[in-house]
Amino acid sequence: MNGDCDIPYDLVSNSIKQIREQHPDIDMIFWTGDNVPHDIWNTSKEMVIKHNQIVADLMRETFKDVPILPALGNHEAHPINMYVPIEVSEKSNYSMEWLYNIMADKIWSEWLNEENRKTFKKGGYYSRMINNGWKVIVLNSNAGYRANFWRMYNPIDPDNHLQWLINELDQAERNGVFVSILGHIPPSDMYEGWLHNYIQIFDRYSHIITGAYNGHTHNDELAVMYNQQGRPIAINYISGSLTTYSYLNPSYKIFKMNSRGEPLNFDVFFMDLDHENRLVAHNHSRLEKYQPRWLHEFDAIDSYQLKNLSSVEWGKFVDNAIDDLDMAYTYSQHYHRHSRLFPDVKDMTLERIIELVKNIKTISPFQKTT
Ligand SMILES: [Zn+2]
Repeated sequence: MNGDCDIPYDLVSNSIKQIREQHPDIDMIFWTGDNVPHDIWNTSKEMVIKHNQIVADLMRETFKDVPILPALGNHEAHPINMYVPIEVSEKSNYSMEWLYNIMADKIWSEWLNEENRKTFKKGGYYSRMINNGWKVIVLNSNAGYRANFWRMYNPIDPDNHLQWLINELDQAERNGVFVSILGHIPPSDMYEGWLHNYIQIFDRYSHIITGAYNGHTHNDELAVMYNQQGRPIAINYISGSLTTYSYLNPSYKIFKMNSRGEPLNFDVFFMDLDHENRLVAHNHSRLEKYQPRWLHEFDAIDSYQLKNLSSVEWGKFVDNAIDDLDMAYTYSQHYHRHSRLFPDVKDMTLERIIELVKNIKTISPFQKTT
């Protein structure tokens, strides 16, 4: 295994099919985006659309009756990361219409309703009531991505995206509804102004936000957000990727949730790609029938010694893991899914492992640390 690359289509397709087979009781899918490969110098609008179509077809065929909530990643833009805000589109030839329209009307059409299509075509975001007490708000968090240079045009709230989020949360609060937030970019990659406001919003509505779900980093990570008073207010669950890019083992995450969308626990599954490659090399004649194996990696409550997945419990976990080297090491192993290459290539020293754990704690960049 080298792993400084994406995985081939066969492994993507086989993985999605195996997930379906191994978890026939999946009720819903949070799809955190980035469906385009990492040859980022080689993209075009046509290529981005083609890859989105390929992955969407695979998801549609495999999970026929399962509701899917997709979110846009930074790789869905062309050029990469560049999401043009509406205020620029209104007075120039730059626009995101080429992406938003085809995703809403064709590629993701069966997963978006009429109301979703309207907001999606404005800024790539939408919300969905799952039942009377649970709403999922799907952000186009690329608006808050530090590598989206259009943010400099309006660094406060491009596309009024955060204002829309506040309106959605306000409505949920008035109706006694709990909320999950789905997006692509995790707090560690948000620019300062956006992150500050994002934390303020989570603080104001922490009593109804039950969790946030991101991707992007490819690492299996957590971001526990704290308010100005030092209280843990919300958790961003950052799932590991199917792609090995770079030096990682593929993984996916299954949450158990109650009817209000509160996460009760999660399990992570991974593929030991190095081991699988060795098996394939030894069984070359039977390669066509070979089915790569997914292994159960860990269960959050058991592995992180939690009572539940509340903010208070995650706050205790962060405090403990900073002092407990065994726990910090466990977290770092999950981060790259036991890849044999990652620790060497990425210089996972003891200091780096402790830093990883400390980085879980997410506060406003404008807040003084003590
Ligand atoms: Zn990304």
